[in-house]
Amino acid sequence: MLSVCRFLNNAPCAYSMTYDEGFVDILANALPIHKKYGIPGHADVVVGQLGQRRNCYRSSMNGLFHMGAEHLRYLITEGWSVGNHSWSHFVYPTQPGLDLYREVVYSRYYLEDRIGVPVTFFAIPNNQCNYEPALPFIRQAGYLGCQQVYGGVNRDDVDLLKILNFMVAEGPIKAKAYRWPLSLTTENLKFEELDGGWLCETTHLVMPNVIQPHKNITPEGLERRFVKLLEITDRRLWAATPEDVIDYILLRRRTAIKPAGANEYDVTVDFPVGIQKRQMSFALDDPKQAVKQIMAGDKSADFRREDGKVVFTVADLAAGFVKQSTLRIKII
Ligand SMILES: [Zn+2]
Repeated sequence: MLSVCRFLNNAPCAYSMTYDEGFVDILANALPIHKKYGIPGHADVVVGQLGQRRNCYRSSMNGLFHMGAEHLRYLITEGWSVGNHSWSHFVYPTQPGLDLYREVVYSRYYLEDRIGVPVTFFAIPNNQCNYEPALPFIRQAGYLGCQQVYGGVNRDDVDLLKILNFMVAEGPIKAKAYRWPLSLTTENLKFEELDGGWLCETTHLVMPNVIQPHKNITPEGLERRFVKLLEITDRRLWAATPEDVIDYILLRRRTAIKPAGANEYDVTVDFPVGIQKRQMSFALDDPKQAVKQIMAGDKSADFRREDGKVVFTVADLAAGFVKQSTLRIKII
């Protein structure tokens, strides 16, 4: 029996680390730690203030410096991704002159023009009160994922336009107000919490002697978190940008497998528009270790054995399509 793996390479869980606001400190204090542990990062930026000193309505972080477009393009070359954290870090409904079209829709295209890649992820600023009013615009702009403020681990039934969040911080977080489960702090985190799920979490500043420790973290705190995550998952977690995880989930949800004869399967995809990566992993029952070769379309796929199965990944599912959206997989 052939099946689609829940996550890439049959990983037991997925993990994404995001930085709201996109402050310049990320370059010096977070990027080296991500590189050390092979974990890509993601910045959600205030699009109307790229490269500027922060001046947002009622923001406690005003005066700090946002990265500019050139910094974001550099992070992208390091395997990071960039999302939209709105035009002005808006406050609904009281912000003078508030324009939700500019905040959510116009800002997407402005940001894409500045960084040269599609922007498919939106992170709600401030608090959950902003979510419902922004949602129609999030749909209109065609985002594939939106991160809400409330927290937890995302399960198979996750609404990708309402992705659960978690705040990683140096000190006690405002867990009750934002519904962030304390079982996800670095001290408390256990594999059982993550198993089968996707943790898509956030912090803001990364700096020594960190200010506002309820929402920022020190480099040591970030490193401790990565070490713990790798340890409890036996290094098997899928550390990926939120965009990569969203693309995978969308593709998986729209993929059907049908037997097409002895040792042949047709993988048919109702292809999701707008995704950037078309990678997909499969598991095949093989208790007797009989599999010698796997053909995905006309290409041989590398596979590995795991618990009576073989696991293999097709790097670009669409590359093997013949006319219709179907890929023939042959087991030899
Ligand atoms: Zn924010």
